[in-house]
Amino acid sequence: MTNNGNHNGKAVHVIGGGLAGSEAAFQIAARGVPVILHEMRPVRMTDAHQTEGLAELVCSNSFRSDDAETNAVGVLHQEMRMMGSVIMTAADRHKVPAGGALAVDRDGFSDCVQQMLTEHPLITLERGEVTEIPADWGQVIIATGPLTSPALAEMVREFGGEDELAFFDAIAPIVHYDSINMDVAWFQSRYDKSTDGGDGKDYINCPLDKPQYEAFITALLDGEKMSFREWEENTPYFEGCMPIEIMASRGHETLRFGPMKPVGLTNAHDGSRPHAVIQLRQDNALGTLYNMVGFQTKLKYAEQVRVFQTIPGLESAQFARLGGLHRNTFINAPRLLDDQLRMKGWPTLRFAGQITGVEGYIESAAIGLMAGIMAAAQATDSDWTPPPVDTAHGALLAHITGGADADTFQPMNVNFGLFPPIDLVITPNGKKRKLRGRERKMAYSARALDSFAGWAGLMKAA
Ligand SMILES: Cc1cc2nc3c(=O)[nH]c(=O)nc-3n(C[C@H](O)[C@H](O)[C@H](O)COP(=O)(O)OP(=O)(O)OC[C@H]3O[C@@H](n4cnc5c(N)ncnc54)[C@H](O)[C@@H]3O)c2cc1C
Repeated sequence: MTNNGNHNGKAVHVIGGGLAGSEAAFQIAARGVPVILHEMRPVRMTDAHQTEGLAELVCSNSFRSDDAETNAVGVLHQEMRMMGSVIMTAADRHKVPAGGALAVDRDGFSDCVQQMLTEHPLITLERGEVTEIPADWGQVIIATGPLTSPALAEMVREFGGEDELAFFDAIAPIVHYDSINMDVAWFQSRYDKSTDGGDGKDYINCPLDKPQYEAFITALLDGEKMSFREWEENTPYFEGCMPIEIMASRGHETLRFGPMKPVGLTNAHDGSRPHAVIQLRQDNALGTLYNMVGFQTKLKYAEQVRVFQTIPGLESAQFARLGGLHRNTFINAPRLLDDQLRMKGWPTLRFAGQITGVEGYIESAAIGLMAGIMAAAQATDSDWTPPPVDTAHGALLAHITGGADADTFQPMNVNFGLFPPIDLVITPNGKKRKLRGRERKMAYSARALDSFAGWAGLMKAA
């Protein structure tokens, strides 16, 4: 993309100076396009932010693994570094010892981002809440995060549709398909019903007999739970996203009449009728991830792994993400956004960050990075080339703009389950060999970084 400064004098308005908005503003300005960055703090605070600093980290000070050889998060870090990311520059300058993780001094980090942005001649920082989009604004990026102010959330809900904006992250655990024991589980839809011309085998079923079901309910009830934060307690949640342990506490049979009902299913391995089942539904177009249907939970993470690995077929389950329920404002991106993060029907309005349904500081910043480059390309009539889908950026973008199932869409961290699978390698003597474990992760990482280097050569700011 060339930086010809041809932006028709119109600044891009970025709403929200968090991880995503800061990165988006930086990338736009780096391409010669002026930006007005709107941050409501300190005029109006959120329930979690404590300062008025840009890119404040609201909780942990960690950007998670920095291992770009075998970890998808580390790969994302490295790709962002290749693009001259302001978030990664500040993180690297202010890192503190944390083993293989990238952790930062939170104040030093936030001050550094703020300084790099406010010193940029093309970036203007305006403090104040944005509650609607004025008609004379040109391009806009909404990057207001999980705690988007209610007035702006209402505006988004009115345009996008009542059911397309969520206020709670009610996540059921998501499992890597290749870790499910299909010698125990089997594919079948209840009553073999098919949707959209399918074959009646849309779900993976894990069977429980009566003693296994009883033991499972007891483990759910006894398991240690996470508590709601004080301000989350006042946000209503609906029956549709009720945690399973709350359902179980209403009676031992409740789950057997809810998400664990065994009707219309026959065990394909031995012809028996299960007493109860856990069903998993495909979660991404690649078919590498499956979510546990109806299994949103407040169990602590370690408890989830312990309890869910007692389910027949899931003894060795690897979780792409564990279940949870917490306050989080996000849109149904696969339904509402086009492949350039623009609201369908509103070509000058983009979304970035956690509000697009990614989860985590670095994922949010990465979506900000891409939204910024897209907006700059649009402002300068330059070409936008999407990052290849086998890169961490490309995999995340493809997931939220279409790869994820819109009906069950929930926020997602970056993980190799989002990447096109690499299962086999050809050995020197011409045979096919299955890649496993560390070797497989290394193959994903190397492929991603190699592909991304080519893309960065094309799209990095001059
Ligand atoms: C309580 C809590 C704890 C979390 N802990 C972690 C964690 O430990 N690790 C992790 O990786 N992720 C964590 N997350 C997720 C984390 O928030 C996001 O990953 C990340 O901060 C999202 O980046 P963002 O830029 O999308 O939103 P934010 O960083 O939240 O930035 C959004 C910005 O928009 C501003 N804003 C909101 N509404 C308006 C408006 N109408 N006008 C102008 N400005 C507005 C806000 O003040 C804020 O500065 C947590 C989230 C929450 C809510």
